[in-house]
Amino acid sequence: SGEAQEKGNEDSIKVVARFRPLNDSEERAGSRFIVTFPQNKDDQLVSIGGKVYQFDNILKPNVTQEKVYNTSARDIVKDVLNGYNGTIFAYGQTSSGKTHTMEGVIGDPNLQGIIPRIIQDIFNHIYNMEENLEFHIKVSYFEIYMDKIRDLLDVSKVNLAVHEDKNRVPFVKGATERFVSSPEEVLEVIEMGKSNRHVAVTSWGYTVSKTGAEGSVLDEAKNINKSLSALGNVISALADNTKTHVPYRDSKLTRILQESLGGNARTTIVICCSPASFNESETKSTLDFGRRAK
Ligand code: ADP
Repeated sequence: SGEAQEKGNEDSIKVVARFRPLNDSEERAGSRFIVTFPQNKDDQLVSIGGKVYQFDNILKPNVTQEKVYNTSARDIVKDVLNGYNGTIFAYGQTSSGKTHTMEGVIGDPNLQGIIPRIIQDIFNHIYNMEENLEFHIKVSYFEIYMDKIRDLLDVSKVNLAVHEDKNRVPFVKGATERFVSSPEEVLEVIEMGKSNRHVAVTSWGYTVSKTGAEGSVLDEAKNINKSLSALGNVISALADNTKTHVPYRDSKLTRILQESLGGNARTTIVICCSPASFNESETKSTLDFGRRAK
């Protein structure tokens, strides 16, 4: 019954689709720009191969990083400071712009992405607060690799477990938590953790057929595919009011995101897309993923 009660709040998930520009190597290779943006007042439509998709917002190739932040994250930060949970995640094939969207050029006021802006915004809100409140801010940073949760702030922790708190909300038990007191300190912790990340050989299942992956690369791709299909099944079960079972338990990724996707959280999914003809089928399946969330 707990799962059934978590249904029917699909509006707490916002889906934004961002298209990057064609890059130089795509232009040199003769790839064409194959998406169009039909005129509409709210910037919600995109058309590819004759098929029109609608999202909460479409972010065209020329939008600023500030606009991306305002559209995807700014309101969530406010809600978080009022006690809600908030989640923002990027989804898309390799080279579609996820890192540019989430991190961007850290330290560059124009080109910095969502994460550094969130960090700055959280501290600004706190510095400007009139009430005399004390905030404790802590940072954890982990990755899921081959279905194991690895702590990026303590490399000796290679297989963290998912537990449930007293309200049955899943969390990663034993993950390192660093207390931080300034934006700079948060960025330092993130830089440190980043150097411990696995650089996936293929960070999206669909690139496999093009690279002819074998052996461990293939295992890695299969694991990524398994997590992503579990994620797709969860978001479509949540959006489908006739389904009473949401299969959160099918992967670690969906268990960790359980509260973000179906619970007391505000969530934005930023669907990142290439506009190039070479990537047409991947772009369509990315857009189909985003559509399943609505
Ligand atoms: P991903 O993290 O999805 O693999 P990246 O964010 O690394 O992809 O993007 C691939 C390349 O395209 C990078 O060189 C990045 O700087 C560039 N890029 C991505 N999105 C944009 C954008 N909106 N405007 C300009 N360059 C972009």
